[in-house]
Amino acid sequence: ALNQQARDRLGLLLDAYGLDPQRPSANWVDGQFLAGDGETITLQDPVTNQPLLDYRDAGATVVQQAVEAGIRAQHQWMALSASERGRRLQAASRGLEGHEEPLARLESLIAGKPVRDCRGEVDKVREMFEYYAGWCDKQHGEVIDVPSSHLNYVQRVPYGVVGQITPWNAPMFTCGWQLAPALAAGNAAVLKPSELTPLTSAVLAMLLEHSGRLPAGLINIVNGLGHTTGSTLTTHPEIAKLVFVGSPETGRLIAEAGARRLVPSVLELGGKSANIVFNDAALDDAVAGAQAAIFAAAGQSCVAGSRLLLQQDIAESVCQRLARAAASIEVGLPGEEATRMGPLQNAAQYQRVRQLIDDAIADGAELLTGGTRPEGLPDDAAQGNFLAPTVLTKVRPDMAIAQEEVFGPVLVVMTFEDEADAIQLANGTPFGLAGAVWSQDTGKALRVAHQLRAGTVWVNGYKSINVMSPFGGFGDSGYGRSSGLDGLREYTTTRSVWVETAPKASAAMGYGSN
Ligand code: NAD
Repeated sequence: ALNQQARDRLGLLLDAYGLDPQRPSANWVDGQFLAGDGETITLQDPVTNQPLLDYRDAGATVVQQAVEAGIRAQHQWMALSASERGRRLQAASRGLEGHEEPLARLESLIAGKPVRDCRGEVDKVREMFEYYAGWCDKQHGEVIDVPSSHLNYVQRVPYGVVGQITPWNAPMFTCGWQLAPALAAGNAAVLKPSELTPLTSAVLAMLLEHSGRLPAGLINIVNGLGHTTGSTLTTHPEIAKLVFVGSPETGRLIAEAGARRLVPSVLELGGKSANIVFNDAALDDAVAGAQAAIFAAAGQSCVAGSRLLLQQDIAESVCQRLARAAASIEVGLPGEEATRMGPLQNAAQYQRVRQLIDDAIADGAELLTGGTRPEGLPDDAAQGNFLAPTVLTKVRPDMAIAQEEVFGPVLVVMTFEDEADAIQLANGTPFGLAGAVWSQDTGKALRVAHQLRAGTVWVNGYKSINVMSPFGGFGDSGYGRSSGLDGLREYTTTRSVWVETAPKASAAMGYGSN
């Protein structure tokens, strides 16, 4: 019954957006929904693991159409004044108002995410377009005071058509996150969402293009598998920059594809972020923070605080509180308002997470709470990807569970003696995406924060992010930055123009003369 309900609800939502409920044309290309001609992809319902929907992989022809449309649209886009581009992106942002609910429902059904979290994603997309719209007429070049008879000015220029690839854990968020700066910088985009969560990006693109009166083809969404549609995109000769959000394994493939064509890339990859709690921290806040850090989105978040580092003398009491807090989280059906944690998005991920837990226990870790399916779910959800919030103690830093990104609701607890020990432990993985320090001694908290090899650090908090502030990784968490001015700059390059101002031009023959 649950599966039928999900299919019915999905059908209604798709129908309302003009998509065939049985077999939607999943690509948004050149201003229209377009069916792919590749193999059929079946989406499974995360709640029941029963089939939810079929669509066809975009394939090479659709990618080609998308890139060609992008080239045309980018010229039209740049023919508008910068202020007009800003106004249109503002209008695009406003166009999402009133669509929060259907978009959130659509994403919740396919991604298995609690519907309230999905509403938050739509809101973020709106905010991102609003923010970057404001940058359109505030990006300018500069004049350099060169020591010669020249006027030298530097223009900021868009790349042209950029290729973007996003993961399944926050499809709308990552889509808006990368589209908004790309467009504000003057580019067109061809974006490939994860094959597991294709539709919300396509609908978003339609809404943004229509409400912003953006040239058809400025945003193209191509849906399909990584090794088919994805690699056609990353190897396409007209794609001038690659922006990838996903796992380090795939990130390496993307960077290699870029390197072969000498196309630059931005990589936003995974993490194994440390949450460090000192014995002088406000412990109620720290426990609440630690819980939200790992269990939000069922741990399927790149910035999940998946390693909790506790100062030895408070470890016992914090663990007890944490076990109680974890067990009290409402795990349930993603469409229900009360649900704080839904299923994992897909069965493969579910199996992988359970295997990592089993291996950790075989390796000597102890299960403090969770590790199994939660109780109280409807019978139809018995085959779904539900996992109770899980906390493991007695974890050694060299265990796989302490080194690898689990991407599930699994927290590992380790202890430390002093500041130096905490820093060493926190920096002891190849990742470097985020981290947090909890202490009421501000000097100590900042000392530690400044030693963390991570692109984002929180002090006495976790997970605050804003489109104004740069975000990105160190090490295996990737390179390049998204959000803020840094994120905008990733989407432009420069042209330096030299104008001779001397009455008689002298041609430079070496490095010294001009
Ligand atoms: P993934 O690497 O498996 O897939 C990401 C995307 O790459 C998908 O769209 C996939 O189809 C595509 N892809 C796969 N192979 C490809 C290929 N050969 N060529 C081109 N494209 C290809 O990642 P995932 O499992 O979808 O997402 C989870 C990962 O994403 C986690 O590691 C998570 O931490 C990371 N993530 C990072 C951030 C960040 O901002 N740093 C944000 C969200 C998620």
